[in-house]
Parts: sequence; structure tokens; C-alpha cells
Amino acid sequence: MKNMFKVFLTIVILGVAIITGIALAEYYGKLEVPELRSQSMEYGSEDDRIESTELYEIRTKYYVAENEFVRASVREFIDNAISEFKRENVTPEKLRDKERAVLLQVIDTYSVNDNLVSIKITSMIKKTFEEEYTTTVDTFNYDLTQNKEIKLEDIFKREYKSKIEEQYSDKYNLRKNDIVFYNNTTESTCTYNNLKEYTNSKILTASNLSISDEEYNTLISNLIDKNKKMIAITFDDGPHKTNTQQILNILSKYNAKATFFMLGQNVEYYPNVVKEVANQGHEIGIHTWSHPQLTKLSESEIAKEINNTAQAIKNITGVEPWLVRPPYGALNSTVKSVVPNPFILWNIDSLDWKSRDKEQIVPLVLNDVQDGDIILLHDIHSTTVPAVEEIVKYLYDNDYQIITVSQMLEAKGYDTTTTRVFYSGRQ
Ligand code: ZN
Repeated sequence: MKNMFKVFLTIVILGVAIITGIALAEYYGKLEVPELRSQSMEYGSEDDRIESTELYEIRTKYYVAENEFVRASVREFIDNAISEFKRENVTPEKLRDKERAVLLQVIDTYSVNDNLVSIKITSMIKKTFEEEYTTTVDTFNYDLTQNKEIKLEDIFKREYKSKIEEQYSDKYNLRKNDIVFYNNTTESTCTYNNLKEYTNSKILTASNLSISDEEYNTLISNLIDKNKKMIAITFDDGPHKTNTQQILNILSKYNAKATFFMLGQNVEYYPNVVKEVANQGHEIGIHTWSHPQLTKLSESEIAKEINNTAQAIKNITGVEPWLVRPPYGALNSTVKSVVPNPFILWNIDSLDWKSRDKEQIVPLVLNDVQDGDIILLHDIHSTTVPAVEEIVKYLYDNDYQIITVSQMLEAKGYDTTTTRVFYSGRQ
């Protein structure tokens, strides 16, 4: 009798176990896990890394790459993601819920060239009590020759880095012809065209990226918000050996860009200042060689004043200046016929050369400042420097985008190849 009971009990237990097993198998079989696929595997390879328990389902990857540093970094990232996922979702109370948490990861890799590799890891997580998956993108860019990660500041000049981070993201993939930025899962693609103006040439040269001068402005025009107020500050008669640098420091502090209409003769004296102005992403325009009133010169003298200055600037910066500011704002039909460039005048005159006094300059500029204004200042006067500090701070605090003349005219929809004379960005 006792044995019979034992057999019976065994059968019952076995039965329950089998039924539970079938039920569990059925339950887990029903768990719908979205399919995540790799889109690009240009560097290294991946293998499935799967863990399946009552509490969770992990479907991620083992990554294999020739470069040990890259392989270890990616592996560390995935290991950490798994640990964190388990820490959050694997608790005894969650077992009662009979619902598993899910972690999915997939790797995309891009080989930019022999030295640069870019990696994207897409993660999808469904927490135990949540219905929806949350998707995140993480990116890694590596310099294989130095075994180090490439950061945004390695690619972009300081002043653009913060803007890019702000408006795009610090998550990006370098690819053969473009950079893809990820804002959550939204992608923005910027081609390398023209990027060199905003990048540290170091990295782009190192990577042998093909860059053409055309098409460009994509990136930078995207960084300017056309619906926000904007203003162009211009500095004439420089560069100056010390004042110009002080003004650059102020502009940099407020992430502001300005336009410097330089005299050829000063460009020749202070090439390093010219270089620094260009390196910091400001615009350089032509203010003639020796500051004559162009309307009093012959055609050939006018052309010489403009062309020599343009050439001197180009020799230093590599960029041909395009905008012209005629001294004293003096223009006539002869000047317009000789010079094909757009003439940039102003609608806010600081009279800084006359007053040499901050207390007079600042209110004159700010009293009825408006979206689209072009402000005239001179970086050759030391008294202008403290005025610039106050002006820029005010504009910054009042949500103006302080940008170059070309950026403003483009953002306002003007074509500087067809319109000839500008007093402001709203004419
Ligand atoms: Zn001048």
C-alpha cells in the first residue's frame, strides 16, 4: 500500500511538473521580442550572446575585433549594460509577476579608413512592469593608431563643440562621407563637405576624408535657429595687436561669432592675429588696404585696394574673403562696377571712434537693438573692448544669436551673389 501511494505521488508530481513545464514553455514561447538587426558590420564581427531565465531575456552580442582596445571597450560597455539591467530587473518580487524583462542589443560598425573606426550600439530594454521598449543609442569612435576614443572636441573646434552637443548630441558615428548624430533615436546626417572650416583639420587630415569646398553650410546653417533673434557685430580697421585678441576672448565666452573687416596693411603687420580670428570661426571681410575713400579713386586703384587685401587675407587663412565694407560707407556706381562683391554697411553706429567712452557706446548700440541689426564697432580702440563685453553680454542674455554677417544674411534668406548693398539683415 505504502509503495502504491509512493508511485501514485510520483506520478502526480511528475504530472504537475510536466504540465507546469508545458505551461511555462508556452508562456515564454509567447514572449514577443522585437527583432533587432545589425545594419553595418565594416569592422570586426559579432556573435549572439543569449541568456534566458524566468526573470529575463537577454539577447546581445559578443564583439570580436582585431584591435584589442576596441574589442575590450565594446565588451566592457555590453558587460556593464547587462549588469545594470540585471541589477534593476532581477529581484525576487519581480518573479511573482511572471513577466520577464528584456534586454536587446545590436552592434553596427563603420570603418572610416585604416585608422578610424566607429561603433554604434543600439539597446532596447523592456522593464518588468512596463509594456513598451525603450531604445537608446550609444556610440564609440576610435583612433586605431593611438588606441584612443575620438571625442567631439577632437573633431570640432571648441566653439562649435558646445553648439553641436546642444543641438545634436554628443553621440555620433563617423562614417566614410558623413557624420551621423543621434538625438535619442533621431538621426541627423552631416556631410563632411565644408566641415573643415569647423573642424580640427588634424583629425580630418589624419583620416584622409574627402572634403570638397562646395555644398557645405549644411552643418552650420543647421546650427542657426532661423526663428530666433540674430545679430551681426562687425569690427572695422583692425586687426590690432592686443585689442583684437581681447575681443576674441569676450566673444568666445559668450559663444558669439563676429565679422572683422580688416585693413590689408594691418593684416600684413599682424598675421597671427588674423589667423587666430579665422581659427575661432569668425568671418573676415575686406575693408581695403589703406582706408581711402573709394569714391575718390580710379578704377584700377579701387581694384588694387580690394584685391591686394583679399589676397593678403587668403594667404594667411586659406579662405578668400567675400564681403566688402567700404571705408566711411562711401559707394558710387564706379565702385559698384569695379567690385563684384557685396557691400556690407551697418544700421547701428556705435560712434566708438568718436566718443572713446563705454558709457556712451553701450547705450547707443543697445537702445533700440533689433533682430537682424548690423552693429559697427572698431577693434583698434582699447575703449571699445569693455563696451564689447557689455554689449555681447546683454545680447546673449536677451537670447540673440550673435553670428557672422554671412551666416545672418543666409539665415534671413539673402543671396549675397545677387543683392549688392546691405545695411542690415532685414531690408
Ligand atoms: Zn574704417
